[in-house]
Amino acid sequence: MPKKIQAVIFDWAGTTIDYGCFAPVKGFIDGFKSLGIDITNEMARKPMGLLKLDHTRAIAAMLPEPISEEQILQAYGVFEKTLFANIEQHCDMKDHVVETVAALRERGIKVGSTTGYTAEMMRGILQKVADQGYSPDFWISADQTAKGRPYPYMIWNNLMQFGILDAREAVKVGDTISDIAEGKNANCWTVGIIMGSSELGLTRDEVNALSRQELNDRKEAVRAAYYKAGADYIIDDMDELLDVIDDINRKLDQNADRILLTPGPLTTRHCVKHAMLTDHCTWDDAYKAITSSVMDDITHISADDNYTTVLLQGSGSYAVEAMINSLCAKDEKILFLVNGEYGKRMLTIAEKSRRNYDSLIFDETKSIDPNVVEEKLQKDTDIAVVVFVHCETTTGLINPLEELTKLSKSYGKKVFVDAMSSFAAYEIDMPGLDMDALAASSNKCLEGLPGLAFVVAKKTLIEESAGHCPSHSLDLFDQYQCFCTDGKFRFTSPTNVLLALRQAIDEYKKEGGLPARRKRYMENQQILLQGLAKLGIRPIIAPEDQSYIITTYELGELNFSTLYETLKEDGFVIYPGKLTSMPTFRLGNIGDVYSEDMTELVAAIEKCI
Ligand SMILES: *Cc1c(COP(=O)(O)O)cnc(C)c1O
Repeated sequence: MPKKIQAVIFDWAGTTIDYGCFAPVKGFIDGFKSLGIDITNEMARKPMGLLKLDHTRAIAAMLPEPISEEQILQAYGVFEKTLFANIEQHCDMKDHVVETVAALRERGIKVGSTTGYTAEMMRGILQKVADQGYSPDFWISADQTAKGRPYPYMIWNNLMQFGILDAREAVKVGDTISDIAEGKNANCWTVGIIMGSSELGLTRDEVNALSRQELNDRKEAVRAAYYKAGADYIIDDMDELLDVIDDINRKLDQNADRILLTPGPLTTRHCVKHAMLTDHCTWDDAYKAITSSVMDDITHISADDNYTTVLLQGSGSYAVEAMINSLCAKDEKILFLVNGEYGKRMLTIAEKSRRNYDSLIFDETKSIDPNVVEEKLQKDTDIAVVVFVHCETTTGLINPLEELTKLSKSYGKKVFVDAMSSFAAYEIDMPGLDMDALAASSNKCLEGLPGLAFVVAKKTLIEESAGHCPSHSLDLFDQYQCFCTDGKFRFTSPTNVLLALRQAIDEYKKEGGLPARRKRYMENQQILLQGLAKLGIRPIIAPEDQSYIITTYELGELNFSTLYETLKEDGFVIYPGKLTSMPTFRLGNIGDVYSEDMTELVAAIEKCI
């Protein structure tokens, strides 16, 4: 079920009643006057929204000379007296509140409330407003919880009352900075209202007396204050609230958790996304330490200390292009082994970079035949480098990495591999195979987020590659030098994505590293294969050539768009096929997905048929 707003939690004075929030202001002024201290309207209003005793303390903290606790209590005592004497004259309903509340209830939305008034103060108010047609489903005051605003406890009490699990299904509406802070701390959506607010601090008559320009300037100042406090929405008046709810519901639906059956971006763990919430600068030691730990960990997934990892901003293709153009000397002849789209992409890179290259093109549905490669290596002795894709994500087939690498090495060739969708899920023994370099990215089997790619290569190879790369931004040698000397990216680092990758690698280790991940992916894929076989949906790659990363299935009678849309309703996002020869669709089984998800997916597909 997609999430949607289930409750709106209103503040009281200045938000739903008491235009301009005047009831408390006179009380605070009188309270401090009783101590012989004159405070301004602005001082009286600044902490508005807090529990009134906390509010009194906050005003005291603004005074040039400190006052005693006794004096604070005295001022508060006078405040209470003035307030109780006046409060019933300040229970006027604000514009559009009664109609808006009725409309919310019609949509099944609960109406809650929180306040800086005490329970005693509220009692008089409740009767007065009920007479005017406003009775929220719940109210609680700050003196009934351990702490008032900006603590979120009053909101929590509302959520408890309404049985709401996720605070993102609730909206807090208020007219002060502390209202917004309370909502933020509760993780609700927050709405600041401008007209009649304490922040604006004007009576209706004062508003009417202002010129249009003056009023606009005042409103803009209030808007700026709400914005700075982190409000999600800022409205002029309550009649805009229903549109805000619609917009939030649209966002909740658009950003609903869905299981991506795609090979990257993929479903990531909450903590991986959460790691992105810190803003980091790129040059300090803390960030450099994170960067170097990521590179070190990546290196040791497939290699040893004779190898290094060079991180690169961008998607996986950036790393493939950087690897080809930086680690091959200018005239070295490259042989590309191609049996899918990603192989073809490397040919485009070579063509655009005017490389000296040749290619062997194989059937897209079969793994690369080493015999054909050997024939070519025997015939063409100019070839210096052999490059191929390990797992061809186009179809999901897996190429014989060990055989192809050993063969090419036996002919004295360098070997570069696009291991984008296999790295961290397939064992790749770079030192054992004497492999020279591979390229991969953060958003495949490492289960990080898109935006970072990397090349793992022999240190000696990178150190000899100065001046090879015709592109400035993609020059691995320069990037490597910068990491070695300054410990940082040459150009702006995708800081948040790197922090997410750091977390993703921690998760990878926590799960049990490559063996655990391989086991989970294999189980995922088996459930899909067997479940879909029962529905008559067949994979197009033969079992011996099939990877456990992503699988291409015959679409048969099914229509892709219909299948896609129907599954999306059920929370699954599938991937179109890329084969030209027949209609297919693809199901990736990597990312933060488990056997239960696969079982549910099979059931959802069965429903479509
Ligand atoms: C994902 C992937 C790439 C990189 O593609 P981008 O669109 O640049 O992320 C390269 N090769 C293979 C085999 C891939 O799966």
